[in-house]
Amino acid sequence: MKTGRVFSGARPTGRQHLGNYLGAIKNYVALQDDYDCLYCIVDLHALTTLDEFEDLRQNCAEMALDWLAAGIEPAETIIFVQSQVPQVTELHTILSMFTPLGKLTDLPTFKEKVAQHPHNVNYGLVGYPVLMTADITLYRAGIVPVGVDQASHLEFAREIVRTFNYRTRSQALIEPQMKNTEFPKVLGTDGVQKMSKSLNNDIELAATPEVTLQRVMSMVTDPQRARRTDPGRPEVCNVFTLHQTFSPAEAPSIERECRAAGIGCVDCKKILSQNINAGLAPFRARRAELAQNSRLVWDILDEGARRARVLADATLQDVKAAVGLP
Ligand code: SF4
Repeated sequence: MKTGRVFSGARPTGRQHLGNYLGAIKNYVALQDDYDCLYCIVDLHALTTLDEFEDLRQNCAEMALDWLAAGIEPAETIIFVQSQVPQVTELHTILSMFTPLGKLTDLPTFKEKVAQHPHNVNYGLVGYPVLMTADITLYRAGIVPVGVDQASHLEFAREIVRTFNYRTRSQALIEPQMKNTEFPKVLGTDGVQKMSKSLNNDIELAATPEVTLQRVMSMVTDPQRARRTDPGRPEVCNVFTLHQTFSPAEAPSIERECRAAGIGCVDCKKILSQNINAGLAPFRARRAELAQNSRLVWDILDEGARRARVLADATLQDVKAAVGLP
């Protein structure tokens, strides 16, 4: 018995990496047991910061393929691309009229984006949180899984909903509730920054075993362990962090051996690479099988968008009635 509707969106970043899996996809898969889920690839959001557009469509497909191979079940869960439900842009426009500009430009996330993209401070960037509110409310999702660092975004969405319902004296929109969720931050091969494709510090889920080995071998370890005979500190080593996920049985002995300089970093990384490859083998086999039919992923996304549009139409009808639009 499902207990509510969940919405979550992610920007189309193409092939997913270990950080995406451990930080989000694993949780997406688990939520399907208890909730009706909508998982959206937010391509319109991606346009706010993109300089090049050629890969956008392909990135949506690659990402969806990874989600499906990881266990997102399209017969139950609605998985779709944001721009295939154009009602979201209509709701975005209406909600924009209920959102003070000053609040948007004061948001720390807007200021961060301006610092990151000073050459491209566009109108869409300012309205990003309003489009995000439209995403969530369009499908009457009562629950949004958020990590601590995203809680303020959802609070902002809740505020827009309250303002809209109050000023229109309606209950056209549902105020979404936060589902506090663990989104573990996975560090990249540099051992310092969050794993990210743009930082080239990622390990792709769909990489070959050989590429996985190369990427793991490039990982930065405990900087104080200059020689093989130096004792290591697993608590500061990202290789060990990944061992805890991919080598649960061996992690205690690796920890001990590392501290006693009984194992070298090269051998330690080889074990990690083997365990990542073994752990991801079923995922990779499933992905390869799905990829054989080049149309399949778009058929699934098109069907997801069709189901999402039915939900969207119902909400938009109520919203338009609330503001007096025909
Ligand atoms: Fe890290 Fe393993 Fe080297 Fe210890 S032995 S520092 S856990 S890579």
